[in-house]
Amino acid sequence: MGTWREIDVPVWETVVTPCDCCGQVVAKRLWIVEIDGTEQRFCGEECESLFRTYVLPERAVRAAADADPA
Ligand SMILES: [Zn+2]
Repeated sequence: MGTWREIDVPVWETVVTPCDCCGQVVAKRLWIVEIDGTEQRFCGEECESLFRTYVLPERAVRAAADADPA
């Protein structure tokens, strides 16, 4: 289960936080979820679902390919 985190940065702060799924810059609040021990930041719960559905399986396939070079 994730949690919303309000972004509270000074207006002169130029650091932007992109969504880990769609890459959209998040201005006001982030949907924070810990997946496999890593804190992921999304623009919303929809992106968490997308991330779990598409990005994680893709990543697993790539990791498997890396582990087996043949
Ligand atoms: Zn997103």
